[in-house]
Amino acid sequence: MPKFSVLIIEDEKNIQTFMSKVLKRHDYRVTCADNGTQGLELIRSQCPDIILLDLGLPDMNGNNIISEVRTWTSTPIIVISARTAEREKVTALDLGADDYITKPFGTSELLARIRASLRHSNRLRTDETLYIRPYRHGEMTLDFSKRLLTIGKKEIHLTPIEYKIVACLAQNSGKVITYASIISEVWGPYADSDNNILRVNMANIRRKLERDPAQPEYIFTEVGVGYRMAEDEEE
Ligand code: CA
Repeated sequence: MPKFSVLIIEDEKNIQTFMSKVLKRHDYRVTCADNGTQGLELIRSQCPDIILLDLGLPDMNGNNIISEVRTWTSTPIIVISARTAEREKVTALDLGADDYITKPFGTSELLARIRASLRHSNRLRTDETLYIRPYRHGEMTLDFSKRLLTIGKKEIHLTPIEYKIVACLAQNSGKVITYASIISEVWGPYADSDNNILRVNMANIRRKLERDPAQPEYIFTEVGVGYRMAEDEEE
């Protein structure tokens, strides 16, 4: 199998080296750029399968790279972000980043984010619109063709709105989905962007799905940004 190629655009050498080592050890081909100009050149010349992008670069804001790259390719972009920068994350996602990873992060988190983004972009490329295989994580199975959600052997009854929310998250499992994109997906592009109705629905969903809604196993809150569903376990 050909190796996936990753481009790391990050000026902090220790983070760049850490990511590069981890990814090489896990059989990715890795290229690094220390600034935005070099990063853009490498994106154009090498067409990497995935881009890891620091937003605070010495010569430009990483958001400029996202906007520029999105004019011509849907290559997944994962933003490397500081812990408290919620608004920065939402802006990057709105501009077309696929996900973000918060510093400091560990090896398994980095690999999980990359896997989820690559899988999602491959799913978009292979035109499998007729059949999407069920989502599975732990005890949960969501069969999209039957609109059937089960936990263990128990069928979980969701309202049509609740089903749409869970299905949207499950089809993007492992990736963060912003409040705004869930609302637009479920209620349509002209929906009121008030998060409250989404929050109420999510509380009801969690009561139905989670053993302990305060310690979720399936759907996680990304504070100030959106929700993330646990990564699909089947490869
Ligand atoms: Ca930086």
